[in-house]
Amino acid sequence: QRKGMVQMHRLSVAIDGPAGAGKSSVARMLAAQLGYIYLDTGAMYRAITYEALRKGLSEKDPKAVSEMAEHMNMKVAEGAQGMEIFLDGNNVTPFLRTEEVSRHVSPVSAIPRVREILVAVQRKLSEDGGVVLDGRDIGTVVLPGADVKVFLTASAEERAKRRFRELKGTPEERPFSSICDNIRRRDAIDAGRAVSPLRAAEDAVLIDNSSMTLEETAEAIAVLCRRVQEA
Ligand code: C5P
Repeated sequence: QRKGMVQMHRLSVAIDGPAGAGKSSVARMLAAQLGYIYLDTGAMYRAITYEALRKGLSEKDPKAVSEMAEHMNMKVAEGAQGMEIFLDGNNVTPFLRTEEVSRHVSPVSAIPRVREILVAVQRKLSEDGGVVLDGRDIGTVVLPGADVKVFLTASAEERAKRRFRELKGTPEERPFSSICDNIRRRDAIDAGRAVSPLRAAEDAVLIDNSSMTLEETAEAIAVLCRRVQEA
């Protein structure tokens, strides 16, 4: 190919890590910078949880939740605030970060059929590359062949502080101790579940961003992407 005509390979970037590590902010920044699509897979698990709660279904009845998930009409679209999720044509994005959804999302995500359904959707949306996905199992299960894999983490204390600041002044504001408890509890369930537990892929680059800003974190991952592009 002639110089200057070379098409940059559109990468797939996997960002995994525990709750509150800043994955979604970093993934959004990085996707905007690269002109890629950002897929917030946590929001997809939250949407299923939201719908289950709305229908009065409990995670203690995995069969009912699985059936509901099978018949769900979920669409994701790029909105002004990032990724938006529509269920049966209704934008449910504003309802996905409530305390109630946060409390139930980990047990719902541990239902194998729910994971199967969402993993298939996530792979489909990623098949042409040019995507940044954030989640818990992207580098290990969803896209084991991702071009760049990052495992992003920070201390539980620092992660709780960030969430606290994020929610302060919003209707979802909660005491620091409650946020800290929720983060630790979700970490434990996510890391301990039988199907796709939270863990770093063997070939993932570990980044502890306890003392980095989100911009610095996004830049560190952008550097990894450039390295792969140039290789
Ligand atoms: O990323 P976020 O905190 O919104 O994710 C909410 C929950 O969804 C996580 O605590 C986890 O239980 C689940 N999740 C998952 N696999 C993913 C993304 C999220 O199990 N890929």
